[in-house]
Amino acid sequence: MTETAELGGRQHALATEIAGRRDDLVALTQDLIRIPTLNPPGDFYQDICEYLARRLEKSGFEVKLLRAVGTPGDSERHPRWNVICRREGGRSGPCVHFNSHIDVVSTGAGWTFDPFGGTVSDGKIYGRGACDMKGGLAASIVAAEAFVAKFPDYPGAIEISGTADEETGGYGGVAWLAEQGYFSPERVQHVIIPEPLNKDRICLGHRGVMWAQIKTHGRIAHGSMPFLGDCAVRHMGAVVSEMETSLFPALAKRNTVMPVVPDGARQSTMNINSLHGGQAEPDPDFTGFPSACVPDEARMVIDRRYLIEEKAEDVREEIISLLERVKAERKDFRYDFEELWQVSPTMTSVEAPVVKAVERGIRSALACEPVHVVSPGTYDQKHIDRIGRLKDCIAYGPGILDLAHQSDEYVGIDDMVDSAKVMAFALDDLLHGRA
Ligand SMILES: [Zn+2]
Repeated sequence: MTETAELGGRQHALATEIAGRRDDLVALTQDLIRIPTLNPPGDFYQDICEYLARRLEKSGFEVKLLRAVGTPGDSERHPRWNVICRREGGRSGPCVHFNSHIDVVSTGAGWTFDPFGGTVSDGKIYGRGACDMKGGLAASIVAAEAFVAKFPDYPGAIEISGTADEETGGYGGVAWLAEQGYFSPERVQHVIIPEPLNKDRICLGHRGVMWAQIKTHGRIAHGSMPFLGDCAVRHMGAVVSEMETSLFPALAKRNTVMPVVPDGARQSTMNINSLHGGQAEPDPDFTGFPSACVPDEARMVIDRRYLIEEKAEDVREEIISLLERVKAERKDFRYDFEELWQVSPTMTSVEAPVVKAVERGIRSALACEPVHVVSPGTYDQKHIDRIGRLKDCIAYGPGILDLAHQSDEYVGIDDMVDSAKVMAFALDDLLHGRA
């Protein structure tokens, strides 16, 4: 056989194997949805990790349950459990790792299906986490199991992890595991995160983010004589006004090589997350009136998303110089700037081995051209990149990104089967080498 014929034969065998596991893939996804791993607070992590461990042990994976003791949110009542399953093929070679977060966000209102029922209707499985990202987790498991069944003595190793807390920053999940060395390039060489990015798209990374707090200060006085005080809210109004005139238009003009989706996010953006000034909001059952005071403090929290062309120092400096401009123009303007949290942008090279392997998988399994995208918001790749120092990492998985966190979230069964084929082809490519 020629190498191409051999590759075609392997892919055909994998595609047939996965098609035959369709019902199992549906049942697995339903089982995962029925474990209500809400975060916050971080419910049922141990249950889902034990479920995944039992499942993958049957295919010869060695499993490790790891609790991220002492990380944010970890407690006896809500322990931060993670599971890592690894199967060695018996010959030396690279390790391909599929990482999925096990947590889901709250259900919210407006459901017509039971959010934890895993109902199948019209070729879709409904439930909280169906697309983000239990469908992707299930697809990666079936892809790996099919691959192991067909080629049990492959070179290298396959890992599948289920990790905690992605929806709240990943500190009790991937960040903690990376600190323990589980995502070091010596141990793992290629990572696929099956987040719902659509089955023909490869997500190379994400924009950066900086959260910061701005405070303006004033002086309290009686509200009937505001000239005796100094209104912190009016100072903050000047900040907002300066943002409208100079900052927002400048951000909208900033171009990037990052293929961010959706289009509106293909630039720098900033959200004013919250703005508080003056008296605190009363309790809902308080029936009285406010007292007459001049606000002596106002506080704004900003959520600035930035591009690979920008540096964190410049993002910070741009806000501070805006505040300095306001200060130069306003009498008695005083402010504090405090950075709360920052994550650098990351974008894996389109030449990276995992990108190439998934590209070829998409072409073979779906007969279409893969599309490269970048996520507007961050996900666990940030920890794999920064703490793990592992660069060969992408997100690829079934499901429609826009459905994440919405009511009546679903994942399409055909899409899961298709992306499981792509993942199995990519495994074959990365472990057996390109034919
Ligand atoms: Zn997700």
